[in-house]
Amino acid sequence: MKDLVFDLIEREKVRQKEGLELIPSENYVSKEVLEAMGSVLTNKYSEGYPSFDELTAERSLEERILDTELPNYRYYGGQVNIDKIERLAIERAMRLFRADHANVQPHSGANANEAVYYAWCEPGDKILAMNLAHGGHLTHGAPVTRSAHIWKFIPYGVTAEGDIDYDELERLALEEKPKIILVGYSAFMKIPDFERVAKIGQKIGALLMADMAHVAGLIAGGVHPNPLDFGFHVMTTTTHKTLRGPRGGLILSKGKVSSPLRKPEKTLENIPTLIDRSVFPGTQGGPLEHVIAAKAVAFGEALRPEFREYAAKIVENAKTLAAELKERGFILQGGGTENHLILVNVEASFGLNGKVYEKALDKVGLTLNANALPGDKAAAFRPSGVRLGTPAITTRGMGATEMKQIAEWMEKVAKISQKAASEEELDEFAEEFKPIREEVREMALKFPVPSI
Ligand SMILES: *Cc1c(COP(=O)(O)O)cnc(C)c1O
Repeated sequence: MKDLVFDLIEREKVRQKEGLELIPSENYVSKEVLEAMGSVLTNKYSEGYPSFDELTAERSLEERILDTELPNYRYYGGQVNIDKIERLAIERAMRLFRADHANVQPHSGANANEAVYYAWCEPGDKILAMNLAHGGHLTHGAPVTRSAHIWKFIPYGVTAEGDIDYDELERLALEEKPKIILVGYSAFMKIPDFERVAKIGQKIGALLMADMAHVAGLIAGGVHPNPLDFGFHVMTTTTHKTLRGPRGGLILSKGKVSSPLRKPEKTLENIPTLIDRSVFPGTQGGPLEHVIAAKAVAFGEALRPEFREYAAKIVENAKTLAAELKERGFILQGGGTENHLILVNVEASFGLNGKVYEKALDKVGLTLNANALPGDKAAAFRPSGVRLGTPAITTRGMGATEMKQIAEWMEKVAKISQKAASEEELDEFAEEFKPIREEVREMALKFPVPSI
């Protein structure tokens, strides 16, 4: 008898097919990415790294990798194929983001961030990062994390207009002299001024780190600036959000690449090697080579011209959706969006609790998440906002007509939700949600999820 798990996977396929994924950090991977992830590579232990020796030849990267016997720094034998796969992932990631080095082993974005902190900082050192309540990320110093117990995080915020408060960032940098200045966020809809932050960091000799987990696909697709082009030393990212690869992390850096066997001095130039040693053996064990293979496939996809079109369409759709929402009375944080993400102040727009609205949208098959907005009080219980984005629905091929339709459904659901004082009371309006649920399903089925 087949394990129950497979039955549940089938049900999840139906959920994904029949609903619309508006969570801005989610996406649908290609069949090839899925295949690499579900491969026999999971059977292999590969602690260590492939070599970083120059591959000198005029042929394509793929041909050179296949032909070259690579030495390695691994603990176990049998790496002949694994080394080439990991090296391919590294080379493609470097090309995609114009980096001098890539570490493709972090199991997740959280691991990638912690590995960078551990590579550069001593316990107690200061890290300047965006306030979680203003759009930053848990891994940027939330008190519940291990990182916050090891390092001292100093938060900077956003202005009333929703942009980074660069003056505050500069003042804090000069006062506190942090070892790292971190630009990164999970609920922010503007394009950061990397150049300005780099100048501030250079004044105090800080490591400049960007956590681009949300927008990496936009950077890869050429519709968002790349922090590594503006003097940033390190960029971390997840590979599963706009980048549309398997669930995992990635660290890109600028500097001199050398053997991870030698412990280098802690200089900005040595960052790539410090990071490699920090990922393994510093903070992780054996790499997930099946996931690394899927990363290599996804990076290969992102290097193709079609991906540039995809990235541009994500932003175009987000702008259209933002405009359609505004027309229907939704008040947007920052007045709109410059990337893939929209933050709606549903409290100010419709007097709604973000959590109740999230649950109501769930009932019609529109998935997004409640999100606190800067200045929210008792945010965990009554967040004023919801966060949504267009990466996943753009993968399904949706465009302006569908954005308009989604905004219409969101308005209808907001008006029904206004009548409910709590999540439980939403059940009383089941009959009103039903026809909208049917419409959402009908449209969703017209835009297939890749590989399902
Ligand atoms: C999603 C995200 C992460 C964490 O990634 P995980 O893979 O969930 O650990 C880190 N930083 C930012 C900015 C993110 O958006």
